[in-house]
Amino acid sequence: MPPETAQKPLGIFGGTFDPVHFGHLRLAEEAIDLLGLQGVRWIPAGRPALRDAPRASPRQRLDMARLAIAGNPRFTIDPAEVDAPEPSYTVPTLERLRRPGECGADRPLVLLVGNDAFAGMAGWHRWERLFGLAHVAVAHRPGYPVDPESLPAELAAALRGRWRRDPALLAASPAGYVVPFAMTPLDISATRIRALLSNGASPRYLTPESVIAHIHQHRLYTEN
Ligand code: ATP
Repeated sequence: MPPETAQKPLGIFGGTFDPVHFGHLRLAEEAIDLLGLQGVRWIPAGRPALRDAPRASPRQRLDMARLAIAGNPRFTIDPAEVDAPEPSYTVPTLERLRRPGECGADRPLVLLVGNDAFAGMAGWHRWERLFGLAHVAVAHRPGYPVDPESLPAELAAALRGRWRRDPALLAASPAGYVVPFAMTPLDISATRIRALLSNGASPRYLTPESVIAHIHQHRLYTEN
């Protein structure tokens, strides 16, 4: 086996996590098994670039993600984006991970995204660079189309020749393939959890109890 394929691919999972929930946790957990990853590095965005400002602070979202993944040795957390002054963009984040002393140039990296986020990829900052930096694994999310025909034309064109069905190929090169994977469908969103909380309802069974305790302790998401 050549040196660059000696290590299993590492999953990279960025998100706002406002708050983290079981949809995120199952995506990451199932990706490891279905795609043959060594583990998943969670990267909470500090200031997400393409959406409204999150309701919880970067630190609070990091703390909730830490609580959610606690005890899972296959998950690690990368806090680097949380204190960054500039908005969090995926391509610069991957460039950071590619530096020597981080993951380096040769380690296969697999960016994990839900298909809603994937469909919007052509709006990301310098998005064409992405396929030179990582593979992409796309999880089916209930309510969002999964067929490549529904993607924007620009993205569909960039994906030509990149789709693969066999996840074993992810270990064979550092970057460049796009692999769909079918996770347990969980129609959970952070938006729904925030709405429940602002209406005084419980988000129990949608996110871990440790996250709910943190939300109540810090009185998060209580106002509309
Ligand atoms: P919001 O409702 O605030 O937009 P969200 O629930 O979509 O938040 P994010 O932090 O924006 O959560 O999502 C991070 C990543 O996780 C994205 O790639 C998104 O597609 C994916 N994701 C979130 N929830 C699910 C889910 N239930 N099933 C599959 N993927 C999901």
